[in-house]
Amino acid sequence: APISASDLERLQVLGHGSGGTVYKVLHKPTSTPYALKQLHSPAADSSSDNNTLQSELDILRRTTGSPYVVHCHAIFEKPSGDVSVLMEYMDLGSLETLLKSQGPFSEEKLAPIARQVLEGLDYLHKTHKIVHRDIKPGNLLMNNKKEVKIADFGCSSDESCSSSVGTCAYMSPERFDPERYGGSHNGYACDIWSFGVTIMELYMGYFPLLPKGQRPDWASLMCAICFGEVPCLPEGASEDFRSFLECCMHKEASKRWTAAQLLTHPFVCKAPSEECKPNLFDKKRKRDDDGVERSERSQKSIKIEVC
Ligand code: ATP
Ligand code: MG
Repeated sequence: APISASDLERLQVLGHGSGGTVYKVLHKPTSTPYALKQLHSPAADSSSDNNTLQSELDILRRTTGSPYVVHCHAIFEKPSGDVSVLMEYMDLGSLETLLKSQGPFSEEKLAPIARQVLEGLDYLHKTHKIVHRDIKPGNLLMNNKKEVKIADFGCSSDESCSSSVGTCAYMSPERFDPERYGGSHNGYACDIWSFGVTIMELYMGYFPLLPKGQRPDWASLMCAICFGEVPCLPEGASEDFRSFLECCMHKEASKRWTAAQLLTHPFVCKAPSEECKPNLFDKKRKRDDDGVERSERSQKSIKIEVC
């Protein structure tokens, strides 16, 4: 049965962001918790903001076919223009909150996280031709089943979206300097860069493109992203993990692997999961016995495939 807004009881605030406020709510008839995101209603005279909002809603309605994207159950649009989105409740919150509360993630913990995010990105890129544009720890949510899902499509429809310094930090080099780093890239590669920075941050415990403790401001971020070296993992990280991040964090967009290609990388393929069982594997994703060698070979020859 469709969920009615009047059956929902607000319990607490889960998070504030540039796009709106997210509440934990209880569906009283079934005692099921949900997350309700109350979006900022665009000013009546601003048709561009309204277009952005409408495309965000459109994306939410279309992307319900993947277990790796936060499921949207209903959209409530009031005559006043207020819009709220009812989503599945992810009880462990975002990876940003988890990083703050539990400290850095080990490789063993990161591999299944990375794999699920890549499944979500592959679904968005291939099935829907959507570039998320705001992949970062705060937009990846987890629940107690250790499921990780992509949330927050507030930037996906808006090429210019880079409202906050926080969001800028995960932006790829070609978004600052398309002539130098963009080549003939198709746009999807910017999510792969942001994904790489995100995974690295979860491992290191701090934003990896700036020295530990330095507060990010727009200028130092842009310098680090466009002119700095791609950071290396500290000693102790495995070769698989190093090679995986190298595949994500090429400065040149066209050299980055696609989500589908990264799903064949040994770093995520060794992660225990249903999908990695050989019988569920399609031919393309099947890893050779010499998976490492193959991935090193293909790293040189693979070009971004047009999704
Ligand atoms: P930002 O601009 O910072 O990205 P936003 O306004 O776009 O934020 P979201 O990213 O959708 O909003 O959500 C903000 C925060 O609320 C998340 O980081 C997370 O902590 C929490 N949150 C969002 N959706 C859910 C959910 N479905 N279940 C649990 N917590 C959630
Ligand atoms: Mg967000």
